[in-house]
Amino acid sequence: MPTFRFRRAAAAVIAAVLPLSLAACGGGDENKIVIGTKFDQPGLANKNPDGTMSGFDVDVARYVADKLGYTPEQIEWKEAPSGQRETLIQNGQVDYIVATYSITDARKEKVDFAGPYLLTGQSLLVRADNTDITGKDSLENNKVLCSVTGSTPAQKIKDEFPGVQLQQYDTYSACVEALKNNAVDALTTDEVILAGYAAQTPGAFKIVGEPFSEERYGIGLKQGDDELRGKINDALEQMLSDGAWQDAFEQNLGPAGIATPTPPAVDRY
Ligand code: GLU
Repeated sequence: MPTFRFRRAAAAVIAAVLPLSLAACGGGDENKIVIGTKFDQPGLANKNPDGTMSGFDVDVARYVADKLGYTPEQIEWKEAPSGQRETLIQNGQVDYIVATYSITDARKEKVDFAGPYLLTGQSLLVRADNTDITGKDSLENNKVLCSVTGSTPAQKIKDEFPGVQLQQYDTYSACVEALKNNAVDALTTDEVILAGYAAQTPGAFKIVGEPFSEERYGIGLKQGDDELRGKINDALEQMLSDGAWQDAFEQNLGPAGIATPTPPAVDRY
């Protein structure tokens, strides 16, 4: 059995204060699923001003939850910044994470992944009026680059571009603010994430150069929970075959100008 946390105690308290009729017909809402995602990545996973969640990752997470038997109302969203994802899973604070989360061997030492469900690659975002950063090689000229602690793009810069001045923030939205305010020259992360930010503020930014890594997005879950991983993989395959994956991509990332890619095959390791 998957180790979803049943909040019976909390549900019982709520039920006790509800009018009888409501409690009677509401029924069955005593368990929840806790899903980790980003709250600040438009197009992928964004917490809107009205409190609702939207984006491609959110739609993938909801589809999977539905196949696991949870209604949208039974989902509790938990913010999962890049640097905290493995810990959130290992501590049991989330049931699974859908948060632009690349499958890597290093992370697989701590968590397991269902998927992949999307392929993308690391790229660069600069201010629209920038002319001297045209790709990754321009960065060596004393450029200040922003990325996020615990992310694969930050790690790649440290490993392969030691001459670059890397500033690591906790979130990409903090990097976007820094880019706006001229505190940094560029922001690096996955192209789909950058496209979401560029679309959010039309005319302010542009993506430059070609992607220079391969990122395979997976759904992170507790290591060794093969049953849950199998069920999530089943759900992802269904999402691909019934067209919901394509619809979710077009709806969330189409407006950012990204053509719907060919989805990857799920890896049943
Ligand atoms: N996909 C990369 C990663 O998992 C970058 C995006 C992110 O930080 O969420 O590190």
